[in-house]
Amino acid sequence: MSDAPEQNPFATPLIPIKLSLDDTIQFNCHKGIACFNKCCQQIDLTLAPYDIVRLKNRLGLGTREFLAQYTVPFALDGQEMPGIKMRTKDETTVCPLLIEEGCSVYEDRPTACRYYALGQMAMRKMGSATDEELYFVVKEDHCLGHQEPRKLTVGEYRKEQGVEDYDAINRGWRQVILKKRSSGPTVGKPSTRSYQLFFMASYDMDTFLKFILSEGFSEVYDLDEATFELLKNDEAERVKFGARFLKQVLFGELTIPVKQNAIEKRVEKRRTEITARQANEKTSDFDARYDGSAEDGNI
Ligand code: SF4
Ligand code: SF4
Repeated sequence: MSDAPEQNPFATPLIPIKLSLDDTIQFNCHKGIACFNKCCQQIDLTLAPYDIVRLKNRLGLGTREFLAQYTVPFALDGQEMPGIKMRTKDETTVCPLLIEEGCSVYEDRPTACRYYALGQMAMRKMGSATDEELYFVVKEDHCLGHQEPRKLTVGEYRKEQGVEDYDAINRGWRQVILKKRSSGPTVGKPSTRSYQLFFMASYDMDTFLKFILSEGFSEVYDLDEATFELLKNDEAERVKFGARFLKQVLFGELTIPVKQNAIEKRVEKRRTEITARQANEKTSDFDARYDGSAEDGNI
């Protein structure tokens, strides 16, 4: 049996020494260290859904505004799967949220910032249905934290950095990416619409909420009022629901209950709408032609 490693979006090209939660690392980062802020001056920061929620709330922005001002797109799978990175300050590699005193959003900093100088990856053993989360040390020349005498376990470091909640909320989304990467062409090439839904349910939680509250959504998905309320008021729950939704959209997993005959009814409704629109367009054409002609004296 061999391992089939699939690194998550936060992984680096390094060949890592795998660590588990009980393994010990030697590292400390503090304000007095000579390299303070060096890591924030050379960023290549992939953002996960809950990172965006925390940052846009911290900055008092809507998701669209945050994405436009602070991020750049890239392909998560090197092809078409939409990914988001933090934009850097003009013509530099410096994080836009860095100020002289340090990180201006420290309590809401993204997952990758919390993990550094650890990296994280997920692996799935062949034949296994579950992923295994592993960690590795990222050693970069500018980072002096590795020379500090403090020793602690990976588990203790994760707790100290407040990364456990972030991971729990983003876990379903990471599973979607892992599955897409590891299944390759076997799940077929997602349509443009699927990628649009992926972007919305991953990064644009404001628009995703409007989508959830739309009539079309309720016609297809069978959710009770309490779930709608939860999704309306709790963005972390919305992120987790987004991953369930994407498993359904991309892989056909029945993760959200669907109303009986919902798809058929939707198709029928859509067909009626198109027919009505086409009839309306013909009438409008007719009106425009004859109205216009009359005004122009062309009859
Ligand atoms: S978000 Fe904060 S911790 Fe992360 S790179 Fe920017 S300034 Fe540094
Ligand atoms: S010790 Fe490493 S993580 Fe801490 S400020 Fe220095 S470069 Fe950044």
